[in-house]
Amino acid sequence: MSDKRKGLQNAIEELLPGCEHRDEMKNHSGDLFPKIEKYLEQMKKKSIEYIAHWNGKDQFEIETSYGNRIRVHSGAKTCSCRRWKLTGIPCAHVISGMYYCGYTPESYADECYKIQTYFKS
Ligand SMILES: [Zn+2]
Repeated sequence: MSDKRKGLQNAIEELLPGCEHRDEMKNHSGDLFPKIEKYLEQMKKKSIEYIAHWNGKDQFEIETSYGNRIRVHSGAKTCSCRRWKLTGIPCAHVISGMYYCGYTPESYADECYKIQTYFKS
């Protein structure tokens, strides 16, 4: 297991305690692990609170309801809240930007959270 993957796994275990079982996942129809999917759904709901301002190319400024500005760089896969880099899953700020562009947030989740990748390894 690579260091990057190990780091991601630790982050996700902290975020979503309890491991998935392979058998559970075999019957799962989505592309992502069920827990990741659930987390993403929560972030999607939260993203509605934000207003995305496009800064050109792959950069956004996300305005929160408190008037804070969060910077998202989708090309570099970074968000100034740092969650995206830490977990490999788009945070609510990123999703807000994705929706602005018409992209699907699922496709921005790290490859290691995709069930196909898991069964390949
Ligand atoms: Zn963020």
